[in-house]
Amino acid sequence: MKKMMLLVLAFNSFIFSAYAQKSDSEIERKEVFKNKEIVFYQIDERTWVGNGNMMFNESMYIIEGDELAVVIDNGTKIANLDKIIASITPKNIMMVATHVHPDHTGNARSFPEVYINPADSINIPYSMPNFKGKLKYLTDGQIIDLGARQLEVVFTPAHTPGSTTFIDKASGFGFSGDSFGSGNLLLFGGTFSQLIASCEKISAIMEGNEVEFLFPGHYHGNNPETQVRLKDLITLSKDVLSGKVKGEIDPGNSFGLPLFVSDYGVKVNYNEESLK
Ligand SMILES: [Zn+2]
Repeated sequence: MKKMMLLVLAFNSFIFSAYAQKSDSEIERKEVFKNKEIVFYQIDERTWVGNGNMMFNESMYIIEGDELAVVIDNGTKIANLDKIIASITPKNIMMVATHVHPDHTGNARSFPEVYINPADSINIPYSMPNFKGKLKYLTDGQIIDLGARQLEVVFTPAHTPGSTTFIDKASGFGFSGDSFGSGNLLLFGGTFSQLIASCEKISAIMEGNEVEFLFPGHYHGNNPETQVRLKDLITLSKDVLSGKVKGEIDPGNSFGLPLFVSDYGVKVNYNEESLK
């Protein structure tokens, strides 16, 4: 399975740059649904990614077990998302969020229950204003049993206070939302110290369980989070905290994060609070 996923990733990189030959790995990323708001691809036998087009390929994932399908995130604005998901998996749905931001919980109101990290409750008025369902809370280290498939919940704060990663150890991959930023991380209220701790925490889990990569919250087909990315984020964060690297003003920033640092192939946007 792990080998196959690496093949899929390698293949996805390939099709972005060249004319693709038909191969087994192509079948693993076949398009299963498309309308003007979202396209779903199958990425292995029981895993799918949906990419919305309103906020830089905002991604959601369907992870199917024998009893239950966990849906990680629900995009920005997609009509009838519940019905679209039901056309892909017949299983009952458990909706979870990697974090409470409008490009990841924008369709929460289409679902009766949404599971979040309680630390992100603070973002609900802004990100899920019309949610009338039941809010349920995840716990750090929780195992979600899908039936012959499990997801481990790992709290990875920094992008938001309640950012969360889900690890499928048996498959050798995980799902990290915007926790590690796909090379461009925004620290909304989080600190560099928090970021270092989250990177170290998830890195240890990946290493100990042969988890090869994490699917990010804005997946283009070839931008997984890797151990190398985590290491680079740790190095850059330590450089900032030690004063070795100074933040520059980001003239184009519209997220209320006026400063940025960029090195080792990663970029972090932040404000003065993040240095505490
Ligand atoms: Zn996002």
